[in-house]
Amino acid sequence: MREGCISLLYKKGDKKEIKNWRPVTLLCVDLKILSKVVFLRLQSVISSVVNSDQTCGIPGRLLTDSLALVRDIIEYVKDRNVPLCLLSLDQEKAFDRLNHSFIMSILVNMNFGPAFCSWIHLLYKDCFSRIIINGVLSEPFKVLSGVRQGCPLSPLLFVLGMEPLACAIRQDCGITGIIAPGSGKQDKLALLPVGTLVEEDCRTVWRNVSASYLLNAHRDLAWSVVHQCLPLRSFLYRRGGTASPVCIRPGCLGEETVHHLMWSCSFAQEVWRKMYIWLEKIERKIVLTEHGILYGLPSIKISKEKFGKIWSIINCTKDALWKARNILLWKKCALSAEAVYALALSIARDYVARDLVHRSGDEVSKIWGLEREQMVSQIVLKC
Ligand SMILES: [Zn+2]
Repeated sequence: MREGCISLLYKKGDKKEIKNWRPVTLLCVDLKILSKVVFLRLQSVISSVVNSDQTCGIPGRLLTDSLALVRDIIEYVKDRNVPLCLLSLDQEKAFDRLNHSFIMSILVNMNFGPAFCSWIHLLYKDCFSRIIINGVLSEPFKVLSGVRQGCPLSPLLFVLGMEPLACAIRQDCGITGIIAPGSGKQDKLALLPVGTLVEEDCRTVWRNVSASYLLNAHRDLAWSVVHQCLPLRSFLYRRGGTASPVCIRPGCLGEETVHHLMWSCSFAQEVWRKMYIWLEKIERKIVLTEHGILYGLPSIKISKEKFGKIWSIINCTKDALWKARNILLWKKCALSAEAVYALALSIARDYVARDLVHRSGDEVSKIWGLEREQMVSQIVLKC
């Protein structure tokens, strides 16, 4: 019953290289039934004996979770400039190298009962294999190490075999690792710094960036603006994605950064000057500042409701500036500052429409500083 026939399945690469063949062991049906029974017993407890960072073959966990975690951690540390060293180790012939007496000592140390251990012992004691090559069976040989590829129990025994190494890594005080945000293991997420802003301002920035009254698209845009990560020319230039970092507006020689697009470009300044016409209807004393536009930091003390409207309009304008930039890039069509103002107004209609569900037209028109016809008329953009 414990004798298996190893058949080699070709993987990839040079066929003369033995490592390019996967040895799958064909086993008797009675042994497979027995190992499946043992496997089901082990599977029901495996998640409580190995740490949550092991995912192979464990119910409720997916191998792809580990891949997604590594990918997310890389993005996270890049985003926050956290130093990280990532070591990727590929275990060659992993299943074949698991020592049988090591597995037995792990089972004993993990407090598996003697009956369970004896079943595993039975499956691996004096087991033999033969190799099938071109239909010819080799002489049997004793298998001293490894779990069999093709046996349902093998992945879980391998997971148990890896746990002591994983424990040693977790307990090593020289390896601190990174606690993933949202994993529930950290006390609280540290406040992210924004440029040279003081902590209190950073708190306001992140609160305004994630304000629930903003459209999702505007929350994303505000987030990208604060992180300076819109795919603009300076951003792409640093990553070898474009030949020049200069602003795409004809005649403008500034570097196309987020700050330039949204604030310092002379075209952006022209658009913001037009926006005063509208914003001053909501708050007469309003002063638009770079910090207000990029980060949502109010320059004067105003009511929460008024600020919400102003911050929404600022985000509609940023959206319009971003769209106008892409229309210029891809359609070679330069919108005038007047057209960008009109575009921002048409984007803001989504916010106005949301208020119209709960309030009368006159009330909404007053809150948003809009004429009634501005709330309903269609704006036609001319290039
Ligand atoms: Zn420019």
